[in-house]
Amino acid sequence: MSSLPRLEDLGDLAGKSVLLRADFNVPIIDGRISDDLRIRAALPTIRRLVGQGASVTACTHLGRPDGRPDPAYSVDPVRDRLSELVPGVELLENLRFDPRETANEGSFVEELVKGHDAFVNDAFGASHRAHASIVGPPRFLPSAAGRLLHREVEVLDGLRATPRRPFVAVMGGSKVSDKLAVIEALLESVDSLIVGGGMCFTFLAAKGYSVGASLCEDDMVDTCARLLDGPKTIHLPYDITAMGPGGKLMDPAAGGDVRQMGTNLPAGWTGVDIGPGSAAAFGDVIHEAGTVLWNGPMGVFEDPRFGGGTGAVAQAMADTKAFTVVGGGDSAAAAKLFGVEHEMDHVSTGGGASLALIEQGDLVGLKALRGAPSV
Ligand code: AMP
Repeated sequence: MSSLPRLEDLGDLAGKSVLLRADFNVPIIDGRISDDLRIRAALPTIRRLVGQGASVTACTHLGRPDGRPDPAYSVDPVRDRLSELVPGVELLENLRFDPRETANEGSFVEELVKGHDAFVNDAFGASHRAHASIVGPPRFLPSAAGRLLHREVEVLDGLRATPRRPFVAVMGGSKVSDKLAVIEALLESVDSLIVGGGMCFTFLAAKGYSVGASLCEDDMVDTCARLLDGPKTIHLPYDITAMGPGGKLMDPAAGGDVRQMGTNLPAGWTGVDIGPGSAAAFGDVIHEAGTVLWNGPMGVFEDPRFGGGTGAVAQAMADTKAFTVVGGGDSAAAAKLFGVEHEMDHVSTGGGASLALIEQGDLVGLKALRGAPSV
């Protein structure tokens, strides 16, 4: 695979106009940005472009508006924050206010590239999507990967190609079916896989345990049995934090007991976190690793009663000498919640994109950049 064109490959940008596709899809609550990580993550690229004397027009999607203008998804708060961080950068309105963005229509691409001399993609989190602003501009303009996109690809490619061993992947989150393809791809390169979160119950069911009312995908049990029979070690929890009948997530007042159990849960009991013994054992595996990739919480960490397993994994990631990579999305949110995000070697800004890159080895947005005209 040829390497991605870099900012340096765009030559002298003084006086040039650059279209920058960024991923400023930040969380906004009551009109205020609650986490500006994605804006700050694009600053090295923007500062380099501005420092070279280019005029920069940035564009991004924000949330999922329905292909038409919707004030709830306006980029105004992003524009304000951006102008505080780097004055003078223009920001177009939410790309997804136009249905031609997700439909990848040529007429929209033509409007986007008009008047620009070069294109830079720094939107790692959107580069797995064949949307107009991702795959279109490199058909017309000399193009390059921004600093953030480049770093994301370098780290995730490195994991697959030359991981320091043992290489351990920690997978959690809700469903096996959502992550099956990436689990299968990871099993090719890891030395062992740790499974927690809602998905561990389908694996436990495949081993013949009763999982009570826990999340379990019956149609995936055979698949999990096949994976467990494979050559790689799959670490499953051997104790579970479970919530009894009548209990409600995010609502301790609703009642229902919370108990530590083994791996056979009685009818009506829901596994909501890995137990403390498993959390400690998983921590040992993480401590002995050379590389750790973490994707997905170990339990329903949004409810403070069930954050223990996720917190323990986050802490083990912070303490290990291994090269640590957090695969974006909920695990990045968890690393932040438990105050260890800065202890990680790399926190990906794109959950879906990082999984797609691990699974497929390439992304449509990267292919487009490689095919762009050169300067
Ligand atoms: P995902 O988007 O697949 O990474 O899943 C993340 C979600 O999985 C989080 O919102 C967690 O609350 C949820 N989750 C983690 N553990 C469990 C569990 N044991 N049962 C149900 N949901 C879970």
